[in-house]
Amino acid sequence: MTSQIDTLKMMPIQLEKDTNQASAFEVAQIQLEKAVKKMNLDPNILAQLKEPEKVLIVSIPVKMDNGTVKVFTGYRAQYNSARGPLKGGVRYHPDVTLDEVKALSAWMTWKCAVAGIPYGGAKGGVICSPKEMSEGELERLSRRYIYEISSIIGPKKDIPAPDVYTTPKIMGWYIDTYNKLTGGASFSTITGKPLELWGSEGRGEATARGLSYTVEVAAKKLSINPLEATAVIQGYGNAGSISAKLLHEQGYKIIAVSDSKGGIYNPQGIDILGVSDYKTKTGSVKGFPKAEFISHKDLLELECDVLVPAALERVITEKNANNIKAKIIAEAANGPTTPEADEILFQKGIFIIPDILANAGGVIVSYFEWVQGLYGYFWSEEKVNSRLKKLILKAFNEVSRIAEKEKTDNRTAAYIYAVSQVAKAMKVRGIWP
Ligand code: GLU
Repeated sequence: MTSQIDTLKMMPIQLEKDTNQASAFEVAQIQLEKAVKKMNLDPNILAQLKEPEKVLIVSIPVKMDNGTVKVFTGYRAQYNSARGPLKGGVRYHPDVTLDEVKALSAWMTWKCAVAGIPYGGAKGGVICSPKEMSEGELERLSRRYIYEISSIIGPKKDIPAPDVYTTPKIMGWYIDTYNKLTGGASFSTITGKPLELWGSEGRGEATARGLSYTVEVAAKKLSINPLEATAVIQGYGNAGSISAKLLHEQGYKIIAVSDSKGGIYNPQGIDILGVSDYKTKTGSVKGFPKAEFISHKDLLELECDVLVPAALERVITEKNANNIKAKIIAEAANGPTTPEADEILFQKGIFIIPDILANAGGVIVSYFEWVQGLYGYFWSEEKVNSRLKKLILKAFNEVSRIAEKEKTDNRTAAYIYAVSQVAKAMKVRGIWP
C-alpha cells in the first residue's frame, strides 16, 4: 500500500517562475479583458467581475512533531457566486500566495460556467511543504484549516475539493472535521473524497479523462491519427500521470514525461506503466531506465503532436512559445500559458485546449459527486464517465463554435462563453440590497 507521504511524493512538479511576468491574478484579469473586448458586456457587470466577492485569510497553528507550534497561513477566495454555490479545490504548496489563490478562484468561475455546471468559483490554499510534513502534522493542519474556514463553506455555500498536493485522504479529514463541527452528516460539503466516505467512482481519474476526451476530438479536427502520433507530458501528479496513461491507451506514443526532479525522453516511446511503478518506488520519474534525461525547458520544446502541461502556472511564456512545436496543447494545469505566449501560439496556428475546458473533468465529476451525495444514491463508473464525456464535449463544441465565429483563439472563445453565462445570471439577480 502507498502511504500518504508516498502519494504526496507522486504529485506534481514545480518549475521556476519568471518574476518579470505578470502575476497569476494579473494574467486572469488580462484574459478576462481580452474576451470582454469581443463582447458587448455591460460595464457594470464587468466592474463586478474583476475582483473576488470575498477572501478569507486564516492563521493555522499546528503542533509539530518536535513539540513546537508552527503557524501556517491559509486562504479561501470566493470569486463569483452568481451561478450557484462556490466550488474549487485547496492547494498545499510552499509557493501559494493570495494572488495565486485569487487567480485560481477566477479560473474556477469560468471553468464551471464553460462546463455548464451550477456553481460559482472559489479556491483555497495553504502555504506549506507537504512533502516535508508527517502525516500527523498534515492531518492537524488540514482539520484546523477547515475549522478556520467553516463559517463560509457548506453543501449549498462553498464546496472544497483536491488540488495540487491535496488528496482524497485529506478530503476525508475535511469532511469528518466539518461534520463534527456542525453536528451533521453531510456528504456534499467536500468532493474528491475517498470512496468509503461517498466519493464518486471515476473522480480520481476525472481530470485526465476529461482531458483525453477533448484531445480525442481536437485530434480529429486536425486530422491527427493517434496511432501515428506522439505526446509529451510535463508534470507527473494526478492529472499528468493519468493523462499519459489515457493518451497511451488512445494510441499515442508518449515520448517524454517529467516531474519536479527532471524529465525523461525516448523517441521510441516510454513504457508508461513502468514509469508509474518506478516513480512509486523511487519518488521520481528521473533515472528511469531505457530513457535519457531531458531538462524541463527542452521537454516543452520537443517535436510532438500533443503537449500536456500538467504542473503549475506560467510555464509557457513569450520566452519559449516560439520554440514550441506541438500541434495541440491540452492544458491539464491551471494557468500554464501567459497571455503573451497565447498570442504567439495563436499566430503559429497551435490548437490550444485551454485549462478552463481541458481540465474541467475534475470539477465536472466533483459536481456528480455532490449530486450523488445530496441524493445518497451512487452511480457506476460507466455512468460517471459517459455523463462526463457528454458535458465536456458539449463545452468543447460551444468553445469551437465561438472560436470559429469570432475568429479568435480557443481561450478567448471559452472566456466569451463563460463570462456571458455568468453575466446573464448576474443580470437577472440584480444587486442586493
Ligand atoms: N482542483 C480542481 C480544479 O482546478 C478540481 C476542483 C473541484 O473539483 O472542485 O479544477
